[in-house]
Amino acid sequence: MAIRVMDTPELLSLNKFNVDEKEPHIRLDKSKCRSCQDRPCLVVCPAGLYRLDQEGEINFDHAGCLECGTCRVMCNNKGIQSWNYPRATFGVHYRLG
Ligand code: SF4
Repeated sequence: MAIRVMDTPELLSLNKFNVDEKEPHIRLDKSKCRSCQDRPCLVVCPAGLYRLDQEGEINFDHAGCLECGTCRVMCNNKGIQSWNYPRATFGVHYRLG
């Protein structure tokens, strides 16, 4: 039996998300993000949820978060104001373990 190797976007697309629109589980302090020189969040998030907008500001949406906690650990400028797991029944549901 041949094993098919799946690429990252394909693997991520298998996950199911129940997004909590009322209470984002990650909140940013945009003023601290603005003053951050390194901006590690742009490269460490495996889901690529941190992006730069046209004005060069950090743009983030918690939908699609894999709850790995990497951004929380790597944020050295305290731009992540709060990081919690989503409320019960919300968040990612992994389909391949
Ligand atoms: S917890 Fe992980 S997947 Fe979620 S935003 Fe942070 S780095 Fe990205």
